[in-house]
Amino acid sequence: MDKRISLEEVKASIRDVVDFPKPGIVFKDITTALKKPEVLEYLVDELYEYYKDKGITKVVGIESRGFILGAALAYKLKAGFVLVRKKGKLPADTYQKTYALEYGEDTIEVHKDAMNEDDVVLIHDDLLATGGTALATLDLVDAFNVKKKYVSFIVELAFLNGAKLLAKNGETEIHTLLSY
Ligand code: AMP
Repeated sequence: MDKRISLEEVKASIRDVVDFPKPGIVFKDITTALKKPEVLEYLVDELYEYYKDKGITKVVGIESRGFILGAALAYKLKAGFVLVRKKGKLPADTYQKTYALEYGEDTIEVHKDAMNEDDVVLIHDDLLATGGTALATLDLVDAFNVKKKYVSFIVELAFLNGAKLLAKNGETEIHTLLSY
């Protein structure tokens, strides 16, 4: 029996939290989606189907919600998993990238031995908002001169034009399951 759910059901399972982390922000909370086995299965399977023939050798997860599906997907793709973390968390030598936030700035890091030029890389995060975090990650990955980069999100807040910002990094294939 096929008990596959629909994308609409996935969408309905994501909770809106108003005014988090600060007034005016509607936070897309994926924890309500992830806790449902059928939604988790749908998300991993859907991403796997999309990327299975692209020769991905490394999935790069962005801290911290990018680690969840990123790691599951890496396992299914028989790829390795790489962590992009906020500054000061990774123990060995790192490349760093500092980028602007609405107020102030942030720095992300990746280990210098995390990838090499033979890799085909899939960068994954739960959500694309302004695109600042993903653009910084794309720039970080460029330090490794990899063969090709793909970028995947579960949710895109299209009205923030994040995809446009990512285009600054050049030709990158972006895939999003749900757009708002
Ligand atoms: P940005 O750099 O603006 O694209 O922000 C992306 C990062 O912030 C992602 O790691 C998201 O998980 C998180 N984020 C930003 N805005 C939201 C939102 N409205 N709901 C949930 N997560 C968000």
